[in-house]
Parts: sequence; C-alpha cells; structure tokens
Amino acid sequence: MQGVSMSQRPYHIDVMISAKAIAARIEDLARLIRDEYKDTDKLVVVGLLRGSFVFIADLVRELEMNVEVDFLEASSYGNATESSREVKILKDLRGAIEGRDVLVVEDIVDTGHTLTAVLELLRSRHPRKLETIALLDKPARREVPLKATWTGFEIPDAFVVGYGIDFAQANRNLPYIGTVVFDDEGTAEASA
Ligand code: 5GP
Repeated sequence: MQGVSMSQRPYHIDVMISAKAIAARIEDLARLIRDEYKDTDKLVVVGLLRGSFVFIADLVRELEMNVEVDFLEASSYGNATESSREVKILKDLRGAIEGRDVLVVEDIVDTGHTLTAVLELLRSRHPRKLETIALLDKPARREVPLKATWTGFEIPDAFVVGYGIDFAQANRNLPYIGTVVFDDEGTAEASA
C-alpha cells in the first residue's frame, strides 16, 4: 500500500499454536536433544537473532545440561530476477566452535537459504558435531533442500508472528504463534 507501512493496515492475529502446545513440544524436543548429546560436556547453543530469542530461552531451560549460549545474526536478501539469495552475517559468534558440539536454533525454516548459509559458515570452522533445531518449518516454501535435525511444528505457507517472531518489529512478545490476518484481505502470504 503506497505511503502507508504494512503494519498500519488494520490486522488481527489468529492463534495457530498455543503457548501450552509450544511448551509441551519443547519438553519432547529437549529429551531428543539430551539423548543426542548425552556424551557432550558442554553444548554450544547458537541462537539466530532475532526471531529465536524466546525459543532458545525456553529450550535451554528444558535441556538440563551444561550449555554455553551464543548468538549469530544473519539477513537474507532476495534477488527478484533469480531465485538466489544473498545471506549476510550481521553479527558473528563471540566464541570459537572448533572441535565443539554445536546446536543451531532457528525460528522458522522458510526458503532454507538462511540456515543453509549459516551451516556452511559454521561447518568451515570445524565443529565436532553440528545439528539444527527449528521451531517452525514451512516445507511448501523451500527453495534449497534442507531439513533441520529437529522441527517443532510443520506449518502451512502463512505469515506468522509471536513467540519471538515479529511483524514490523511488533508482536515478538506474544506467548503463542499466530497468523497475521489483514482485516481487509484475509491471511497474509509470507513474503520473506
Ligand atoms: P529462509 O532463508 O529460510 O527463507 O528465511 C528464514 C527467515 O525468514 C526466518 O528466520 C524468519 O526471520 C523469516 N521468516 C520466514 N517466514 C516468516 C514468517 O512467517 N514470519 C516472520 N516474521 N518471519 C518469517
């Protein structure tokens, strides 16, 4: 809409995944992760900013193991004429991961470009073990073949917010995952 930012269009949010369902799923995921890393002294948990900050906070508290927490911020830019994307690292890790056991925590795997690029970067630093967890997965939107080691929920192609995930920097503090529904149009398509 010309001259008006998207967030100024009236919209409401429909609950897609309740806070209770998220908490229950995180308990299951934490069990699987603990099992996979049972021989690990200290796990390096890498959150991808900013969308994973709520998920990582809840996840590490369920892990009940020795963890170090680090963050990385990547941004992916679309190219209108090709289906390629450039992924830029805006904030790198503080710590070294060579020889370490690492778990990358992502909010949503959408086209798959961001996580693919991040994993390529991290692999070049030779961790001992590198696995990934995504709270949400939109398989219908995938452009590069990629599957996180663990996924919280597979969801359809809709623009979602809440539980760390924003719409124009709002709604990150909702305790649930919801879909943005424009009052004049219906459910928004993801345009990331
Ligand atoms: P990918 O490189 O897989 O296409 O991009 C994943 C990133 O796109 C996610 O980490 C997230 O930042 C953004 N993204 C994908 N789908 C949505 C969505 O429905 N809502 C929001 N707010 N961001 C999304």
